[in-house]
Formats: sequence, C-alpha cells, structure tokens
Amino acid sequence: MAVIVQKYGGTSVADVARIQNVARRVKAASDAGDQVAVVVSAMSGVTDQLVKWVREIAPHYDATEYDTVVATGEQVTVGLLALALQELGLKARSYLGWQVPVRTDAAHGKARIEGIDGGAIKALMASGVTPVIAGFQGIGPDGRVTTLGRGGSDTSAVALAAALNADRCDIYTDVDGVYTADPRIVAKARKLAKITYEEMLEMASQGAKVLQTRSVELGMKHRVPVQVLSSFNDLPGTLVVDEDVIVEQELVSGIAYNRDEAKITLIGVPDRPGIAASVFGPLADANVNVDMIVQNVSHDGRLTDMTFTVARPDLQRTMKTLDQAKNMLKFERILSDSNVAKISVIGVGMRSHAGVANTMFKALAEKGINIQVISTSEIKISVLIAEEYTELAVRALHSAYGLDND
Ligand code: ADP
Ligand code: ASP
Ligand code: MG
Repeated sequence: MAVIVQKYGGTSVADVARIQNVARRVKAASDAGDQVAVVVSAMSGVTDQLVKWVREIAPHYDATEYDTVVATGEQVTVGLLALALQELGLKARSYLGWQVPVRTDAAHGKARIEGIDGGAIKALMASGVTPVIAGFQGIGPDGRVTTLGRGGSDTSAVALAAALNADRCDIYTDVDGVYTADPRIVAKARKLAKITYEEMLEMASQGAKVLQTRSVELGMKHRVPVQVLSSFNDLPGTLVVDEDVIVEQELVSGIAYNRDEAKITLIGVPDRPGIAASVFGPLADANVNVDMIVQNVSHDGRLTDMTFTVARPDLQRTMKTLDQAKNMLKFERILSDSNVAKISVIGVGMRSHAGVANTMFKALAEKGINIQVISTSEIKISVLIAEEYTELAVRALHSAYGLDND
C-alpha cells in the first residue's frame, strides 16, 4: 500500500463535472489500496479574478489583506471535492492551510513553507479518511493567512508529500507531462518521459509554469518522486528524477519563455567601485528581485550604462525606488521597457559541450530577432528579446536543437 499525494490544478477542478471526475480518480486510487491525500487549487480563473478585485480597490495593497482575499478560491474547491468524494461513498474531510497547519514565514503574497505537521493528516489517512487540503495557503507567524505565490499549490503538494514521507507526489494538470517546450506554443513539442530535478528547476524558474519553481526545489531537497500527468486521460506522464537515472542525456532538454519581466536601463551612471551595490541595495530593500544584469565598460572611464530586468509587477516600485535614489546614484537618464520576453535553452548536456550558445544566436539571427541581453548558467542560456517575437523564437530554437517531433 502506497501513500500518495495527488494535486489537481485549476483546470482540473474548473466546474462541478470536473470536480466529480477528480473524485472518481481519487476513489480509483483508494480502491486500488493506496492511501491518498489530495491537494487542490482554486477553479481556473478564480484566483485571477480575486487578484483583480484587490488591485481595483487598492493598487498598492496591504499584502496581508491580499492573502485573505486570494486564499478563498481554494476554500471552495476543497469543500466541494470533499462532498464529491462523500457522494461516492468515501470518507473525506477538507482542510484549510491553517488547520493542517501549513506553517509559513511572514512574506505575505509569496510566503515560504517552514514546516508542515503531517501527524494529524497521517493518522486520519490511516483510519481510512481522505484528507482534501487547500493548496497555495498557509499560516504565518503572525497567525494570519498567507499565500505562496502564483502556482503555489504545486509547492503545497510537494511539501505535504515530504511531510507525510509519501511514496509519490502526482501533479495532475491540463497537459499530460513536461514537454520540450510549452505545447500551447510549439505544436511539435515532445513529451519527456523523465527530466532531472536540475533541468526542471531551470525550466520552471525560466517560465515553464507547469510546476512552481519552489515545488521543484523542495522535491529535490527532500527527494520526493514527483510526477506530472493529466487529469483528463490515463497516459503516462513525466517523472522528475536524479541525473544518474537518465541514461541517454540530450544536449538540450527544453526551451522556456517568460513574458513576465521588464527591462530597465540607467544611462550615464558614474563608473566607480560600489556603483552596483548602490543601485541594487535600495532595490533589495524594496523587496525587488533583479534577474539579468549587464553593465557596459565605459569608453571614457567616467560614465557607463547599466541594464537589468525585474518582474513586471515590480516595475513601478523599481522606478520609484531608483527615482528616489537619483541624487545619490547620479545617473543621467532612466529608461524602462515592458515589451520584452526572456527565452531560455536548458540542458545538463551543456556542461560538457561547446557551441550550444552559438546555435542559439545563429537561429535567432536567421529569424532577424535582435538579442538585447544575454545571461548564462552552467545548464542554461537566456536571452532577452522583443516580446512580439516570443513564439517565433521558441519555435526556431526548438527546431535548431533538433527537438521537433516529426
Ligand atoms: P495547473 O492549473 O494545473 O497548475 P498550470 O497552468 O499552472 O496548470 O500549468 C500547466 C500549463 O503549463 C500548461 O497548460 C502549459 O501551457 C504550460 N507549460 C509551459 N511550459 C510547459 C512545458 N515545458 N511542458 C508542459 N507544460 C508547459
Ligand atoms: N490558485 C493559485 C493560483 O492560481 C494557486 C495554484 O493554482 O497553484 O495561482
Ligand atoms: Mg499551476
């Protein structure tokens, strides 16, 4: 008998019929002898709507009240799924984050899970009851409801699987696995039977939202076997595994894109020691994460330009912070551009092969796509381009690295 955590995303619980479909799947696993804990997201579109209402009322909202509002979507689906399971003759009960409890830090809106007390849930499962747990939410040190950042139910599920010492965490979504690129953009994308934690981590953090980045980190750290599959069919999914499990490693395993960044350029910054610290220090204090950074060499040894990217929702805050620091930083001008996308090529095979970057640059050049910023890691190359070329770039790179399924 295996202990399994099953997580169902927004499209899988989008209406009553789909919730009943999920209930049948949970029952089938339970009939087969497994002990199942279920984690669910809000119905698709609901969290977006809740966020929109918050922003309409308070553009610079209080993050604790934001959490109070956006966590409600999951309360509806846990209750409905518990009822649907009861209708099928199972014993089931719903849990909100604070009831488990899922303890988090105080970073409202993007809280990190600090610990889950799995004891009560475990005992409940052993007594034949199916727990249905609200994803995306927890309780902070201040005793208030927190949320884990968009897509956070994946993280709830993996953290719960770790706490329960589960045999597997199955993430059910609207695609039947992890593909070489987003199948909604690349028709020729191929499903990967396996992907390494490291590659999945890069794919997720570079924008492949099929798993939330933090869920992959937790899976890697606690060695939780994670599987991505569809709640609409019974096809085999993708297993996230250790590197040594993959026998024939491809050079590049996937292409990801992210339209959620904005580019900022400081023109005429004094080229002196400490300038980077004085630009990025105030941003860190304002809780802004900076991603790609380029600083040019100054041609006259006096002034230089500095370009970097931040998450698009942080753009306003970034501009305000830099404007306030203008007297200290002494830059000439500041430019911002939200019309950008980051395209990344990912693969552990890159470690041992040269020329991977050049293939990328050539493929983009052939399509006439200009590269604005480049950044690399051991297993990833990212470029920033104009947003309107996103699809074209992803498809061109998918072909260039021989990933097309034809
Ligand atoms: P859920 O609501 O189930 O959590 P998400 O919308 O968060 O689902 O994640 C699934 C989506 O991730 C897919 O519909 C797909 O468009 C997108 N996606 C992006 N990149 C990939 C990829 N490489 N493989 C599979 N899906 C991807
Ligand atoms: N409902 C939340 C969101 O839309 C969490 C999730 O779906 O994982 O971001
Ligand atoms: Mg998701």
